[in-house]
Amino acid sequence: MTQKIRDVIIVGSGPAGYTAAIYTGRANLDVLVLAGEEEPGGELMKTTEVENYPGFPEGIMGPELMAGFEAQAERFGAEILFENATELELVGPVKKVTADGEIHLAHSVIVATGSGHRKLGLEHEERLSGRGVSYCATCDGSFFKDVEVAVVGGGDSAAEEALFLTKFASKVYLIVRGKQMRASKIMADRVRSNEKIHVLYEAQVTALHGGDKLDGVTVCVGADLASRMSLSGLFVAIGNDPRTSLVAGQLELDRFSGCIKVMGRSSQTSERGVFAAGDVVDPRYRQAITAAASGCIAAQDAEHFLATTSAAVLEAATA
Ligand code: NAP
Repeated sequence: MTQKIRDVIIVGSGPAGYTAAIYTGRANLDVLVLAGEEEPGGELMKTTEVENYPGFPEGIMGPELMAGFEAQAERFGAEILFENATELELVGPVKKVTADGEIHLAHSVIVATGSGHRKLGLEHEERLSGRGVSYCATCDGSFFKDVEVAVVGGGDSAAEEALFLTKFASKVYLIVRGKQMRASKIMADRVRSNEKIHVLYEAQVTALHGGDKLDGVTVCVGADLASRMSLSGLFVAIGNDPRTSLVAGQLELDRFSGCIKVMGRSSQTSERGVFAAGDVVDPRYRQAITAAASGCIAAQDAEHFLATTSAAVLEAATA
């Protein structure tokens, strides 16, 4: 029996992946979404209130927003599997995507694998991860009631993490490596006016300490000598790197950002029939709304590709 070849396989289930699924499903294409096993829904699943997604004037909780994306993709017929894609073969007319040991085939693929948390790169970071070192305040913040914690980073993520942690911790140090925060003015103002947050500028964490659990960090602030700070929680929020390991060697990546290269304002990658959307192509804007918009673009590009690639070529690929 010949295996079914779908129109589109979408890898990833953040705002980009699910929006691509909504549009391709609504275009009556045969769509499979590999939503991932550990983090279906992407980064917004770990966020509390999303205040800036249009259409929700009072804000909406991240997981609730993503549940809506998922339900809408299903409504238009997308099949969703909560499995990790482990291998992609993108070259040639029939693309192969392996998940949970099974190979799925399609004429086109939309890569929407998002980005992963950047690490500090310090000794013991891996070992102490989940033992005091965390990359997600909404996941782990409640473990740090009435103790002092620190957040590393000066962007919107770090500001958001620090503000969230004030619900639990007695004091939150925000360790910013530059002379000022990079966060948007509204977030930086909220941080600066919060009495529980103490911002350290021109500060760097240079070492992590602890046996079973983190019990302190070494911090250098300005020209001062390095000093040890007793802490039971350190939240790292220093940006993200695009998740491209599945496409390495198959798609061209941007030399500077490491993101998948796309042509102009389209989602077309260096491989015919392969499109990319969301944080994996965007080192700059990285908003739910921009990711959703790029998922919409990828869906339309895939639809156009399928419509303009002659039926004869697609059939030949099937044979
Ligand atoms: P980001 O804007 O790239 O900020 C990263 C921060 O980490 C910067 O302050 C950077 O310092 C610092 N940093 C990087 N490497 C470091 C290291 N090794 N040690 C210490 N500090 C380091 O990343 P982000 O905060 O994750 O935000 C990413 C995007 O998502 C932005 O566009 C942001 O606006 C958006 N976002 C928006 C919201 C919201 O709207 N509520 C929430 C979260 C994120 P330098 O400034 O010195 O480079």
